[in-house]
Amino acid sequence: MRELKSYVVYACPKCHLIQMSRCDRKTRKCFKCSAIVKLNWSVIKVLFSSDSAREAVEAVKRLKIGESGLDSRRIFVKSSSLRENE
Ligand SMILES: [Zn+2]
Repeated sequence: MRELKSYVVYACPKCHLIQMSRCDRKTRKCFKCSAIVKLNWSVIKVLFSSDSAREAVEAVKRLKIGESGLDSRRIFVKSSSLRENE
């Protein structure tokens, strides 16, 4: 098993909400779908880990922005329909 730092950023296996936890916790309740997530780091995909809570929070923000970036097609449609209305 790979070595983890104090704070781990992961996605809920059920609703894929990106969140963070201390790596020494065993379970955590997802604040979106209320699933009790077993923090088994050999099963859950670790997106980021750091000894700094601040860095972990930044990583959560970055990952969330990255996720919405995947939806760029919708943003494109939205902006092109705006242009048509002008
Ligand atoms: Zn969830």
